[in-house]
This record gives sequence, C-alpha cells and structure tokens, in this order.
Amino acid sequence: MTATNQPSAAATSGAPDHREGDPARQHTGYPHLPGRLYDCPACEARCHCTPGDAECIYTGQHNGMASA
Ligand SMILES: [Zn+2]
Ligand SMILES: [Zn+2]
Repeated sequence: MTATNQPSAAATSGAPDHREGDPARQHTGYPHLPGRLYDCPACEARCHCTPGDAECIYTGQHNGMASA
C-alpha cells in the first residue's frame, strides 16, 4: 500500500527573506557610501559602521566599531 498524499518537495509558500539580491535590500541606484544614505533600504537594514569612520544612518544597534 502506498500513500496517496505525496509530500511536495517544491512547496514554495512564503518568500524567504534575508537574502542578498532581494530588491528590498538592495542599495539604491544613487551612488553613495554604504550606511550613509537615508531612505536606502540596504543602508537602513543593518549597521554599516566601519572602523575610524562616522556612525552610519542605521537606527538600530550599531556594531560599535565607530565609537571608542
Ligand atoms: Zn545604501
Ligand atoms: Zn552603524
């Protein structure tokens, strides 16, 4: 006896996020330094602080490399 309900391996329900290449996470086409442009989805998505540089525009928790 075989089961009539076969598990569909290609069940694509729910789009995966946190993926690079997602248009919502891409930097805007306007040339800018990562983490320095307001209204840029990718800049606002995470901290872009670099050592010895000013704090990025990210409103969340920074990685702390810019301070101290
Ligand atoms: Zn950006
Ligand atoms: Zn930062």
